[in-house]
Amino acid sequence: MLVADAHVDVLMKLAEGRVAFLEDSPNLRANYHSLREGGVATQVFALYVDPSLDSYTQLAVVLRQIDAFYQQVAILADVRAVRSREDLRIARQQGQMAAILSLEGGGCLRGSVEILRILYRLGVRGVGLTWNDANELADGCGELRGAGLTRVGRDVLREMQHWSMWIDLAHLHDAGVRDVLRLTDGPVMASHANARAVHPHRRNLTDDVIREIIRRDGWMGLTFQPSFVGRDPVGIDDVFRHLDHVLDLGGHRHVGFGSDFDGTSADIPGLAASRDYRAFAERLCDRYGQDLAQAFLFGNFEAFLMRQLPSTSPL
Ligand SMILES: [Zn+2]
Repeated sequence: MLVADAHVDVLMKLAEGRVAFLEDSPNLRANYHSLREGGVATQVFALYVDPSLDSYTQLAVVLRQIDAFYQQVAILADVRAVRSREDLRIARQQGQMAAILSLEGGGCLRGSVEILRILYRLGVRGVGLTWNDANELADGCGELRGAGLTRVGRDVLREMQHWSMWIDLAHLHDAGVRDVLRLTDGPVMASHANARAVHPHRRNLTDDVIREIIRRDGWMGLTFQPSFVGRDPVGIDDVFRHLDHVLDLGGHRHVGFGSDFDGTSADIPGLAASRDYRAFAERLCDRYGQDLAQAFLFGNFEAFLMRQLPSTSPL
């Protein structure tokens, strides 16, 4: 069964140079072999940089991670860097894994739409404006001030829409989420977040936001980071509680997964690396049937990408 995963933090580790993508190391949960064994046919690779670094350093680290993406990931014969719907079709025809870049936190942009455009030209197709902290664009979900988007945050949002980059609501403060929903009317997504009604955590989405994602034909990726899933001890059944809740809200065609592998040291037993998608897929099939399981694992995100990605990739 094919799998799409909207969030891993592999590039952070590759750029640090302590592990390589082709190494089948437990230190890299979403390494090449693990992804292949898991049946992962679409993988979004996040660019995440410690936001406490100064913004010049953040940008330098992001560029190093993009270099690692092209040097170690997209260079492989059975992987394709996907920047457009055309690329995605070719990847499917050739049986390649579609590899897509996204930015997790806009601190490296320094409030500049020019840097955003450069990152777009380097292949970045989705952006989360913040991580948990505040930056020039908006407040993240962990910022006590709890403000929405700044003026430059709105400029960046407008530029993202112009280039058809997806808007990732994960990590954004509720006030920023409200601003984004007020300032846009197109699809929005959340790459790795769960339902707050099931587990009250600031990183999870309220029912109102989930309904809005569904109404706008967006997409949300449930995540396996245990602290966002439930109270200890967390198991796979707790992930199903979030999934069932999103289905109750009508999200059959708008939900999938964003694992957060390599972004956290904690994990759910049996769901700790990309290769675990194989057994997880069986659990999904038993519970929801083949067609829905395939939609959650792959089809819904594929459809979202076909709605969201530019038709071709301009330079
Ligand atoms: Zn994250």
